[in-house]
Amino acid sequence: MALQDAHINIGDHSPKVARAWPAGDGGTRSATPATTGQAQAAGAGGLPSVYTPELIHPPHGNHVQALDAETGEVTFWQVSGTRQRQLKGHREGRAKRYALRWIARRLLPKGHKTRKCGAWRLPNMDIQVLKSPALQRAYFHGLQVCASPWACPVCAAKISERRTAEVQEAIDRAKALGLSVYLVTLTIPHGLGDDIADLLHRMHAAWAKLNQGKGGEKFRARIGLRGHIRALEVTYGQLHGWHPHFHALLFLDTELTPGQVQQVFTERWQRCAVRAGLPLPHAEFGCQVDGGDHAERYVSKGGWGLAEELTKGQAKDGRKGRSPRQLLEDYQNGDKQAGALFARYVEAFHGRRQLYWSNGLRALLSVAELTDEEIVAKPDDEVSMLLATITDDQWKAIYRKRQESVVLDLAETDPDACRAFIQGVEP
Ligand SMILES: [Zn+2]
Repeated sequence: MALQDAHINIGDHSPKVARAWPAGDGGTRSATPATTGQAQAAGAGGLPSVYTPELIHPPHGNHVQALDAETGEVTFWQVSGTRQRQLKGHREGRAKRYALRWIARRLLPKGHKTRKCGAWRLPNMDIQVLKSPALQRAYFHGLQVCASPWACPVCAAKISERRTAEVQEAIDRAKALGLSVYLVTLTIPHGLGDDIADLLHRMHAAWAKLNQGKGGEKFRARIGLRGHIRALEVTYGQLHGWHPHFHALLFLDTELTPGQVQQVFTERWQRCAVRAGLPLPHAEFGCQVDGGDHAERYVSKGGWGLAEELTKGQAKDGRKGRSPRQLLEDYQNGDKQAGALFARYVEAFHGRRQLYWSNGLRALLSVAELTDEEIVAKPDDEVSMLLATITDDQWKAIYRKRQESVVLDLAETDPDACRAFIQGVEP
């Protein structure tokens, strides 16, 4: 019994009309010439010069479909301010994240919510395959999600995408207000055998001390600190063990050079770290400050926050150590110790904020807040097509054979084949 495609509207937002593009009648593949400065400024390697501005998709960090006039190829882009990033290879990326979630589940203790993420049906819901016509993406609806930025490669990717767009928005607003935006990286001396939970506790205590008392007041005034966004990250190095560190964007209303900010910040960080019971941070490398361009590149290249490390991985670099994602991959390749390290990391980071905005900053920059749970619970799009409904038995079979991403790939490329696949799946 094949289900008819039906348009359904999810969420409490006002309904939006999904447009087919190029024209649904299969007619001309001509597109509206670019009319905004954004597109004109794209330049080499950026958005093709022809795209349909009406398909900019506000709820989703501004996704745009573009047509390459020469090849006729339709590509997908994320546009934010003057920046743009081509979204490609999403099927390989998705299959990889699903596979890594399977590995993570095996390493996590019973009762950990990531073990149910994308596996268990929500009470009183049907499991459905939906597709967003604007994004051309398929996704499951009706399954539990864990919203863990630390443990779950699937949820981490979704949270990270949304958070990156928010941080970019914050940078744009801050610049419009005349604030300078600097990136500071804070590290502490660490060694093999350090307890990661203890390091985390002391690092957060040290950060809290930055702002405390008369010293904190003086520190803020000296650099003109109006607010910050802090990200927590960690890597594991074979020689020096756990390496937790903070990256923070500083929003300043002074005209100091990065070098001047670094001088003030290093002094304060050293004092606070020692007071929190940590060894003295390195005078040169304990606190590094980079200027605006560097800060923006760091955010826009997707290096923001550990979720990115969990979803995209890093270049293999022994000096930098392994990201949590690399620990998962190494475990997959037979490295048992990497699996134990991943489990230890998840336990230690549980409940920690991955990204923290200082009080009042969201109001100052008019950037609204969604919790991690709200982000992952949000449907991928507000207007989606129902392609198929999956019974519990069918789902069990799909899940056991780890064919979740196969179903979504088919839904995106050949909905009829997708429905046939679900109907024919052997329990
Ligand atoms: Zn999850």
